[in-house]
Amino acid sequence: MPPRPNLVCCHCGRSFKPDRFNHHHQKYCGLPECTAARNRGYRQQNTQRHLADAPSFREQERIRCCEAMRAVRARRKAATARAAPPAPPSPPEEPAEPLAMSTLTMFGVISQLIGSTDSDEVRRATMGYADRGRRLTAGGLDGGTRSG
Ligand SMILES: [Zn+2]
Repeated sequence: MPPRPNLVCCHCGRSFKPDRFNHHHQKYCGLPECTAARNRGYRQQNTQRHLADAPSFREQERIRCCEAMRAVRARRKAATARAAPPAPPSPPEEPAEPLAMSTLTMFGVISQLIGSTDSDEVRRATMGYADRGRRLTAGGLDGGTRSG
């Protein structure tokens, strides 16, 4: 028996080797999107045939469609309610400039002072010290305490 020729998939247009038991009416290759297209086509044909033939099926489909759309609307409404109100626009970030030597020195000193090499931790400590310096120059710390 001579080998069967390859067929061309009517969905993706690629050549494929048909199933040997289904060669005479196989139109789609085995790719998932092609079998999904085939099944979609069968389902649409089946639904159209039922819609034309059976009034009860028509009524069932109408009810099913209404319920599905109601569920979709309810989901959309819930998602809209869940969504937080839009956040206020954040201030524009300042352009990154190369750090000055004094800033780098300060980072190094603070890193050694707190005994950490974690840049976030050093940055937080630096901000704390800067805040402390700001308060000192603005009129002194509260009650002259040494904490903070
Ligand atoms: Zn295909």
